[in-house]
Amino acid sequence: MNGAGVMEPVSTQQNPAHDAQAGKHVSAKLLEYPYPFKSAMAICSDLDETPDAKVYAEIARFLNTSETTSMGRGVDLEVGNSIYFLMPDDQYAYWTTDDAGREMAHALIRSGHIDVLHSYGDFATKRDDVKRCIDELNKHDLRINVWVDHSKAPSNFGPDIMVGSGDVRESEVYHADLTLDYGVRYVWRGRTTGVVGQNMPITRRSLTNLLNAAHPVISTRTMFKEAVKIRLGRKGHPRWEMYADNRVLRPSTLRDGQPIWEFLRSNPYWKGSGKGDTGDEVGHVLSQRMLNNLSRTGGVCLLYTHLGKVSDAGCPFNDASVAGLRRLASMQESGCVFVTTTSRLLRYLTVRDGLQFDARRNGESVSLTLGSISDPVHGDRPACEADCMGLTFELDRCENIRVALANGSVLDHNLYHDGNRTRVSIPWRRLSFPDI
Ligand SMILES: [Zn+2]
Repeated sequence: MNGAGVMEPVSTQQNPAHDAQAGKHVSAKLLEYPYPFKSAMAICSDLDETPDAKVYAEIARFLNTSETTSMGRGVDLEVGNSIYFLMPDDQYAYWTTDDAGREMAHALIRSGHIDVLHSYGDFATKRDDVKRCIDELNKHDLRINVWVDHSKAPSNFGPDIMVGSGDVRESEVYHADLTLDYGVRYVWRGRTTGVVGQNMPITRRSLTNLLNAAHPVISTRTMFKEAVKIRLGRKGHPRWEMYADNRVLRPSTLRDGQPIWEFLRSNPYWKGSGKGDTGDEVGHVLSQRMLNNLSRTGGVCLLYTHLGKVSDAGCPFNDASVAGLRRLASMQESGCVFVTTTSRLLRYLTVRDGLQFDARRNGESVSLTLGSISDPVHGDRPACEADCMGLTFELDRCENIRVALANGSVLDHNLYHDGNRTRVSIPWRRLSFPDI
């Protein structure tokens, strides 16, 4: 465990060798990311100011398909979006859009392309407002397990940066019991770092990456601001501890005592982590230098942005944004950056970091058993097939491997031989984009 109480990845550990009746125990290493990737990113976009359902859909199609869109051919990544409910009429939200807009939301939640609750909206001020939203989600059997605080929404959970009271029992908008009972597991409470590559030690280079030769004054100021946050965090200031630890996830507790996984987002932009966070500017954030840095660090990035904040509803992403997203797609194509939705990436990380596994050799074949997942927030549970997508193990060369869960269910896998080493990878199954 580190200072924040986050479990260290077992992927860096070698399991000890010993003999047993079921075969000779062999060393296997769980790699950080699905093979062959070196780093991972989820674009974690808040839907603020998305003008309407049409723009919301067009952005989703561009990001998740290779269809022709108003911005050209889509980049065919795996990118989610968020949803909220009670908002001003001029923005896309669940209760402000029409029936067709709601049906689109249903389809995208079911497919996994809406995976984040972005509070219940600016106008959700009472527990009954929240009940109505959760009843609606349950009525349509819609599941979302990630929460992201929004602006100054009363239902927010963050006590300091996001000034919410959704987890204060005495508050009129208290809903943390209902929302966690509904299924929320991961919570963002306002923390966004400028460091690219979480789950990696902070080095001098983590900060100098923010320097921009064309903008020395502003980028130097940004770098020093980040350095101050990290220093305060190291001194134990609760607001900045996550910045100093640089862990993407930490076990935490809401003010009503309920345990959650809290996550850290990142916006490594030279103007500062609160700038460049729009659909108009995302191309400047997704620079080749930033993507190279992420890949080089081998870290994780949950990118803080608002892709629906755009100047031209007819063509949501400008040329620079399209170019940035194409750069990201090409980094995925080349095996440098693994891209998936926020919910899927958070699940992958908690499984990877908590999985117990065992590899045994019997003659020419190896049997790899994936056992339980230790989860310091929600308790231990046996791994199921859906948990194991993307997990990749490396071990001494073997031609014949059986991968199974503890209950005996056999898992499909791919083998990659490299000299005297073999990697066995459980295939990642892409989300299927719905017809919207
Ligand atoms: Zn927001």
